[in-house]
Amino acid sequence: EKFKEGLTKTRDSFVGRMNELFAQYRTVDEDFFEELEEILIGADVGVSTVMELIDELKDEVKLRNIKDSKDIAPVISEKLAEKLDKSGEDTKLNMQDNQMTVILFVGVNGVGKTTTIGKMAHSFKQEGKRVVMAAGDTFRAGAIEQLEIWGERVGVDVVKQQEGSDPAAVMYDAIQSARAKKADVLLCDTAGRLQNKVNLMKELEKVKRVISREIPNAPHEVLLVLDATTGQNAMTQAKTFGEATDVTGIVLTKLDGTAKGGIVLAIRNELNIPVKLVGLGEGMDDLQPFDADQFVYGLFK
Ligand code: GDP
Repeated sequence: EKFKEGLTKTRDSFVGRMNELFAQYRTVDEDFFEELEEILIGADVGVSTVMELIDELKDEVKLRNIKDSKDIAPVISEKLAEKLDKSGEDTKLNMQDNQMTVILFVGVNGVGKTTTIGKMAHSFKQEGKRVVMAAGDTFRAGAIEQLEIWGERVGVDVVKQQEGSDPAAVMYDAIQSARAKKADVLLCDTAGRLQNKVNLMKELEKVKRVISREIPNAPHEVLLVLDATTGQNAMTQAKTFGEATDVTGIVLTKLDGTAKGGIVLAIRNELNIPVKLVGLGEGMDDLQPFDADQFVYGLFK
């Protein structure tokens, strides 16, 4: 239900254009594919992913001897789901059973990082887990307070130092405090400045070093938060962060705010990093685990 709701804008635009396509082209021919290509690119699916999809669809059409354009609709959704579920890669979070799970969040300012951490704290709490948040974005004015507001909203403690302090020191403190509280999950915010890749890399490395010195195999997840409404910019950010640190998964926020939800496919297919969660609104229940089938279902139904 959440997926269906959150994908309304994308669905309205996509389904509308697909219906026009089927009405205009009754038979599956070169013109049909050209138009389909345009629709998919228009939905931010990404050029190389679209090319792959079109090639695979053409093969299927031959194989199944499809002539009528209506008959290709189920094949399209099938192929889209396949592309999203590539190699059956796990979209689940790497949660630890016998020790505290540490999740590091990275991403540029404004993408919804703080909101995502707050939502995630809420959902873990709902599951009965003990959660602590670390205010590691000591750089952006207001970032610490914003996390504290989420902390109060969802009833989770925030470990902080003053603005401008060393994020690695905040992480160290947070780990000690989370341990003392016997926390199950520690959610760590980081600064999102991207102006200087070398600095970003150094800061993230230092933060990770402090964490792994305390907990050998942590952080267990490094989640890159991307804003779905920024299209190609999100792809560029993903590449930059991918070079700066080992990203284990993506949280794609504001899917509800875009008609171009096809960006999920571009990310999944071109970056080879699994989209693990999606943001479908501003409320605390609006963060959902990503599910390829639900996503495709949400696009068509
Ligand atoms: P940060 O700078 O990355 O920490 O970004 P924030 O968490 O402050 O979020 C920036 C804005 O995006 C806020 O107004 C959030 O409410 C909004 N936002 C975050 N996630 C979502 C989402 O999934 N959907 C919508 N519609 N808005 C979101």
